[in-house]
Amino acid sequence: MRIETKCLHEGYHPQNGEPRVLPIYQSTTYNYDSTEHIGQLFDLTAAGHMYSRISNPTVGAVEEKISALEGGIGALCTTSGQAASLISLLNIMKAGDHFISGSKVYGGTINLFAVTLKKFGIECTFVDQDASEEEIQQYFKPNTKALFGEVIANPAMTVLDIEKFANIAHRNQVPLIVDNTFATPILCRPIEFGADIVIHSTTKYMDGHAVQVGGVIVDSGNFDWSNGKFPEFTEPDQSYHGVIYTQNFGQAAYITKARVQLMRDFGTYPSANAAFLLNLGLETLPIRMERHCYNAEKVANHLNQSEKIEFVNYPALEGSPYYKLSKKYLPSGCSGVISFSIKGSREDAVKFIDSLNLASNVVHVADIRTLVLHPASSTHRQLTDQQLNAAGITPGLIRLSVGLESIDDIIEDIEQALAKI
Ligand SMILES: *Cc1c(COP(=O)(O)O)cnc(C)c1O
Repeated sequence: MRIETKCLHEGYHPQNGEPRVLPIYQSTTYNYDSTEHIGQLFDLTAAGHMYSRISNPTVGAVEEKISALEGGIGALCTTSGQAASLISLLNIMKAGDHFISGSKVYGGTINLFAVTLKKFGIECTFVDQDASEEEIQQYFKPNTKALFGEVIANPAMTVLDIEKFANIAHRNQVPLIVDNTFATPILCRPIEFGADIVIHSTTKYMDGHAVQVGGVIVDSGNFDWSNGKFPEFTEPDQSYHGVIYTQNFGQAAYITKARVQLMRDFGTYPSANAAFLLNLGLETLPIRMERHCYNAEKVANHLNQSEKIEFVNYPALEGSPYYKLSKKYLPSGCSGVISFSIKGSREDAVKFIDSLNLASNVVHVADIRTLVLHPASSTHRQLTDQQLNAAGITPGLIRLSVGLESIDDIIEDIEQALAKI
């Protein structure tokens, strides 16, 4: 199946007489014939749903679909993108460990990595992701356990050189974890370029309609967890009668451990209803992404020609420093998100935003409706000037998430707001 077909048909395969549309299995619990069978579930020697904090058939169908879209061997849905980032890392790290992240990542990710994980004893070093392999190599330490990056950074709109990051990670025997939220598997499948783990905030394009916060972790199945750096995968897990993840689950060691250990303990699993809504979004994802990219490219070109604009960040623009990387990793488009700066002060940027009529001023991005936001006074408000700079955010930066309205209406709205400054 091609990806458009997978969006409609993966994950749920109704048998004779069963509902055509994925049912909402609104049940916390599952019925078994014997105590012995339930005992086997707890020992992980039998497969099956036990309790909806760990798995559920509706969520499971969506996990299977997203895994197929990314080319993974398994996926785990979470209640938010933040929970996906957190679990993707805690699954392989503990207090005393260290990891490296590109500095062009989502503001919430920076808070999580720089402030909260630090309280757990896990240290993150942020690096210039455009630096050479040799330079990034210098930041690796014996306790470094992962390399992290964002395929298209929110809101800096930089493009990660995934193959470069994969090379560096693998040379150091650690996995590459990437956040593929803005690109979605429609525009980029990072596993094809060497990423080991892919995470998403499904709240964005995957849901697409701004109805449900969610996240997902996808496992490529390609990383060798028995290389000596990850004893938690090769030594018995006391909480499951001595299960050894690499031995019992082979290629699926990572994603199984994330579910049966961390999801069991943290309980950030989405409801069946949440997964049902996410599935509706996934069904139309390819056609939405195509139009988002088309509209955004028009808007980016339009803004680029305006005298009132200082710069436009959109990797598909020919003058963009990320143009070459975008052609390699995002050949069919760079999503609907653009960031740009208006000439003048921070106040001019705010005036422009407040003058828009069609575009909604909301704390959200990657929706079917055109949205606008001033990162420095909202999503990235907690960051210091230095962190803002590193994340590629100037005080006048505006994030515009181009929706599916008529391109003529979107451009007219921008024009009338520009005329007011
Ligand atoms: C929004 C976002 C997140 C966080 O996701 P939530 O679903 O809001 O928790 C992580 N990464 C990126 C790139 C995002 O845009």
